[in-house]
Amino acid sequence: MFKRVLIANRGEIAVRVAATLQQMGITAIAVNSDPDRGALHVTSADEAYPLEGSAAAETYLRIDKLIDIARKNKVDAIHPGYGFLSENGKFAAACENAGITFIGPKAEVIRRMGNKVEAKQVVQQVGVPIVPGWSGGATSTKELAIEAKRIGFPLLIKAAAGGGGKGMRLVTNAAEFTDAVESARREATAAFGSDQVFLEKYIARPRHVEFQIFGDEHGNVVHLFERECSVQRRHQKVVEESPSPALTPELRSKMGDAAVRAAKAVGYSNAGTVEFLLGEDGQFYFLEMNTRLQVEHPVTEMITGLDLVRLQLEIASGGKLTFTQDGLLQTGHAMECRIYAEDTARGFLPSTGTLLAYEAPRGPGIRVDSGFEEGSEVTVHYDPMLAKLIVWDRGRDESIRKMQWALERFVVLGVTTNIGFLRALLANPEFRGGRLHTHFLEEQRIVEDSGDAPPVESLIAAALGIDGAARIGKGKSSLRSADAKDAFSGPWTQADRWRVA
Ligand code: ADP
Repeated sequence: MFKRVLIANRGEIAVRVAATLQQMGITAIAVNSDPDRGALHVTSADEAYPLEGSAAAETYLRIDKLIDIARKNKVDAIHPGYGFLSENGKFAAACENAGITFIGPKAEVIRRMGNKVEAKQVVQQVGVPIVPGWSGGATSTKELAIEAKRIGFPLLIKAAAGGGGKGMRLVTNAAEFTDAVESARREATAAFGSDQVFLEKYIARPRHVEFQIFGDEHGNVVHLFERECSVQRRHQKVVEESPSPALTPELRSKMGDAAVRAAKAVGYSNAGTVEFLLGEDGQFYFLEMNTRLQVEHPVTEMITGLDLVRLQLEIASGGKLTFTQDGLLQTGHAMECRIYAEDTARGFLPSTGTLLAYEAPRGPGIRVDSGFEEGSEVTVHYDPMLAKLIVWDRGRDESIRKMQWALERFVVLGVTTNIGFLRALLANPEFRGGRLHTHFLEEQRIVEDSGDAPPVESLIAAALGIDGAARIGKGKSSLRSADAKDAFSGPWTQADRWRVA
């Protein structure tokens, strides 16, 4: 097993990876940009080295700086987390060349699956259904227009090197097609340095259901069940859960088999995710493969009882999977909400500032993965995700109730968060009924439940260190009842819990 592992990432995932490393007796080595100097991922690691600069492009995305630090500090392996360089074949190759193990699949596999056209061709060859469309050799706009007519509208134009919804265009009629291709190409070139695009039939109201897979370097591949990720905003997941309310045991086994076949087709090793669209008619289609640990991996950890980072380390150091498909159990129900520093009422605008108070809920079956603590700065430089709140319980209804309980007790002061929005979402009858699809959020027009907003008087009192914040709040008749209730039953009654940085 490795002795010294560098985590080429920041925030909650760097904190989470360090925890497993330390539990395994491995030295956890962090890197940090200038604004991250005192960040939680630095203070929780065993050693930390600076990547001078602020922006991601001059810090966490600098292969040369990371390899240099790793070499100088006798690192045996690098964990890339998610985002940043985690799906960059060049980074994996640079590690391999420097004699450092990259914790993930081989560089060549990352490269092949990173091109969506190539990935679709590979999986189709082993009988995995793909979204009907055009992913062949034709690349001129004229040729694509002929294919578009054959497929029919609406259709999606996608960037072959795409990710995060970039370079994607929905086209509803032939007249819009040429302009849409040109603009998709421009966006793709700017974001990925490639203007290759392909076409897909637009599936109406699909679910996004993905399978966690794991392969070792001895040819064994299993899946660790599904995650339902249909609740999305602009192709970004907001709530994830397992099991999916849509899967029967038969469909689960069919989709799981397809995911394993897709992984085996490329000789996949380490953690990966095979994403599918699931149509209203029960048909499923391969969407893409993510060659890294996902943000939502804790959902899988909760229902399987496995530590996926530990598995990644064991496999990267040459170990064999210690279980077979039949030995795995999907137990209970897990759900994750992504807590963002954003103003949902103002178009989900990211919110920045110092966390004056930060108190995560605690209780049985509740897990919070976060890179922040009281006093931390939320800056413009990086992703505004503050934390992931994950719950586990026997069934979906109990999980939802537990999630609501936990959201009501999640205290964040200093930035605006989406907690009120998530509470409203969890109360939505369609959500509760499990009737989800990728347009769910737009269609349901969820409006923030402001019940969690503390009365401003309590905040001022707390900030000034005045004893009995609630007493000040109490005198105000202007408080809405929901506010008042929270003020007197929640953490707001305990002014001494807050320290203002
Ligand atoms: P990216 O890699 O840019 O995130 P994906 O191909 O993974 O792009 O798709 C992101 C999301 O876009 C999916 O989760 C789904 O909501 C939607 N989507 C993608 N392809 C289709 C399609 N053919 N029909 C309908 N929705 C789609």
